[in-house]
Amino acid sequence: PTALKMEANVLVMGADNVGKSALTVRFLTRRFIGEYGDMEFIYSHNVTVDGREILFHIWDAPNSQEQTEDGSSEEKRIQWADSFVLVYSICDRASFNILPLKIQFIKAAKEGQSQEKVPIVIVGNKRDLHHQRVVSSEEGRLLALSLDCGFYEVSAAEAYHGALMVFHGLAKRIPDTKLAL
Ligand code: GDP
Repeated sequence: PTALKMEANVLVMGADNVGKSALTVRFLTRRFIGEYGDMEFIYSHNVTVDGREILFHIWDAPNSQEQTEDGSSEEKRIQWADSFVLVYSICDRASFNILPLKIQFIKAAKEGQSQEKVPIVIVGNKRDLHHQRVVSSEEGRLLALSLDCGFYEVSAAEAYHGALMVFHGLAKRIPDTKLAL
């Protein structure tokens, strides 16, 4: 049987320096290049999960509330997106603490538009830096549970597998009814 084809706009969000670009580039290229600069692009990448072929358009955006050069505010980016990857670093407590508000903001913005729940995956990155860990796996898991989001702990630096899990997990949360071509 032919796969069901879909498209999804994914916004990668989170505090500065948590590894948003590292995770995105790892998923797209299987590589880790270490330094990413101030890039802000939309990338497209195809995955097939559970017989569904999904073309992801991924916006890896900086964490500013302000308008960037092309005039895009976070609010506009949230409007553009229909699914979300929220990244924190397990070594950075503040990056974890900002997530509940961000997620509530996303839900308020999106769930007004439709009854379906918003596909969101929370990612605790930099798992390789376990000696610097300040956010436990349990805390991450509980936050995701309480907000009805997916949860993964990964190391974008160490492996491709985690990044793949994140985007496959996100794909599984996108309902069939949505975005079918
Ligand atoms: P962004 O600002 O959230 O996009 O973060 P970047 O992707 O630019 O990464 C910030 C810094 O953290 C860079 O120096 C990366 O090399 C590093 N980094 C990203 N992911 C990991 C990881 O999983 N482990 C470690 N040890 N460093 C990482």
